[in-house]
Amino acid sequence: MGVCLQAYLRRTPADLEALLPLSPAIRLVKGAYNEPPDVALARKRDVDAAYAVLAGRLLERAAQGEARAVFGTHDLGLIARLRDRALAVGAAPGAYEVHMLYGIRAAQQRALQSEGVPVRVLISYGTHWFPWYMRRLAERPANVWFVLKNLV
Ligand SMILES: Cc1cc2nc3c(=O)[nH]c(=O)nc-3n(C[C@H](O)[C@H](O)[C@H](O)COP(=O)(O)OP(=O)(O)OC[C@H]3O[C@@H](n4cnc5c(N)ncnc54)[C@H](O)[C@@H]3O)c2cc1C
Repeated sequence: MGVCLQAYLRRTPADLEALLPLSPAIRLVKGAYNEPPDVALARKRDVDAAYAVLAGRLLERAAQGEARAVFGTHDLGLIARLRDRALAVGAAPGAYEVHMLYGIRAAQQRALQSEGVPVRVLISYGTHWFPWYMRRLAERPANVWFVLKNLV
């Protein structure tokens, strides 16, 4: 069993420190929902910076086999920086995973996998797949065009 931590939440650094002694499986994401500024960082660059710090901490533990580190992001620049950080702390490519949504950046998913980084994709299934997809489209309306293009 694992947990998802959202890098934009102000509480997450403390949550991560509380979880690390448990040798946890953690999927780190940036955070998708609108939260008030006292709860979550509002600016994208602050969220990206927070993500990099949290991911670095997680990688240190993953390098020692004391955590399962999963990066749930499509941000290729961030992934490249994390891979450098992994090298610096001695975490082999197989010591962490990258998770993305099914259909997003498929070529880069394959490239990462071929370089030894385990990649998993998230798909929705079961009775609630439709509301799940509608929420994803609402978060990123540009994907309506992406879906139509692929249907054709
Ligand atoms: C496996 C997985 C699990 C997740 N679980 C949660 C969760 O439990 N709770 C939660 O709050 N959030 C979750 N998220 C969403 C996450 O918080 C972000 O909102 C989302 O991943 C977009 O941020 P990003 O890290 O990809 O970076 P961004 O900086 O937002 O995006 C980087 C680039 O990736 C591309 N991109 C990003 N998203 C999409 C998209 N949907 N479609 C097409 N291109 C895109 C864009 O080109 C963008 O420029 C999850 C994401 C993934 C991949």
